[in-house]
Amino acid sequence: MSESTRTKSNIPQALPGAFLAQQREEVLAAVTRVLDSGWYILGAEVQAFETEFARMFGYAGAIGVGSGTDAIVLALRSLDIREGDYVATVSHTAVATVAAIEMIGASPVFVDIEADSFTIDSESLARTLEAYPQIKAVIAVHLYGNPADMPSILQVAKKHGIPVVEDCAQAHGAQINGFFVGSMADVATFSFYPTKNLGAIGDGGMVVVRDPERIPKVRALREYGWMSRYISQFPGINSRLDELQAAILRVRLPHLEAANLRRAKLASAYDAGLPGCGLTLPVVRAGGTHVYHQYVVRCSVRDLLQSRLKESGIGTNIHYPVPVHLQPAYASRCGMDPHGLGATEAIAAEILSLPMYPELTDTAVEEIVNTIRNLV
Ligand SMILES: *Cc1c(COP(=O)(O)O)cnc(C)c1O
Repeated sequence: MSESTRTKSNIPQALPGAFLAQQREEVLAAVTRVLDSGWYILGAEVQAFETEFARMFGYAGAIGVGSGTDAIVLALRSLDIREGDYVATVSHTAVATVAAIEMIGASPVFVDIEADSFTIDSESLARTLEAYPQIKAVIAVHLYGNPADMPSILQVAKKHGIPVVEDCAQAHGAQINGFFVGSMADVATFSFYPTKNLGAIGDGGMVVVRDPERIPKVRALREYGWMSRYISQFPGINSRLDELQAAILRVRLPHLEAANLRRAKLASAYDAGLPGCGLTLPVVRAGGTHVYHQYVVRCSVRDLLQSRLKESGIGTNIHYPVPVHLQPAYASRCGMDPHGLGATEAIAAEILSLPMYPELTDTAVEEIVNTIRNLV
């Protein structure tokens, strides 16, 4: 087909409102229920959602908070990480992971990633922990929905006697060796930002804990440190999931598993159609269940591929174009693996996120695959 006769597609990279085509009535009923209740903060909806979320994945407890970023702040504070402490994490992540560390006055120390899984490299972590005895916790990020190598990470952290936080903002429902992400570390965090696998229609987040004894402290921390009303036991913040978001998330939660399976099916279609195009396709760890928050390929001529796809009406995105340690806010002032962050820097110029959301049609994926095949 020549350039002039090819019909232009209109396929966005993400489509956060698409679920409403199926769930509008249920969402409206939930919203109405909250409006009429006259109770808008920390009520029956948040409590029910916390219970349902914890039960679905087998967590000992779940505490609804204002955002995924706040969830990390509260997780670190629940572990008594404080001003002056160092926290190890990756530079290839949403900047939120790193911003949360600095929000409590701690300092990030960057660890490299495995180039194939895009998640934290346990050997780099071991080197970094040796080099920085001030590190008091590790945040492992299950980036793109791909579970990080938790058994190795937990082993390295245990050797140094420090706790691990799982940042599950992109990985609701992902598993490794039969364990759901969020159930392996001391504390874990989720985001319900609208494009996430489980999304609200605004901000929201969750802290989950393995030890039920940790629940009261996180609950208190999200509301001024109150153990009983108006009496602050310790300094807390205001970060509460609201009733409206909780009610909507309760509508969406029962559909999460099917939505993740749909994402995996779309990923298989990409996996089947894209070999031979000069792209490096996503790798799933042995024993891991990827939930494809993003389907990220590597391409040596990434910018060219992205602009050609855009001309064909196919949206893509780059998660993330500049590693955090090279961004203006953080450059030259943070610690890192003494061997450097080679994999992190190498992949940044090559990664491209293709369209991925449960409502993406088989026809659209076929069209994306064909367009890419025609470009090479
Ligand atoms: C989205 C995200 C966050 C932050 O969540 P917000 O709800 O936007 O604050 C943290 N970490 C990762 C990996 C994310 O993708």
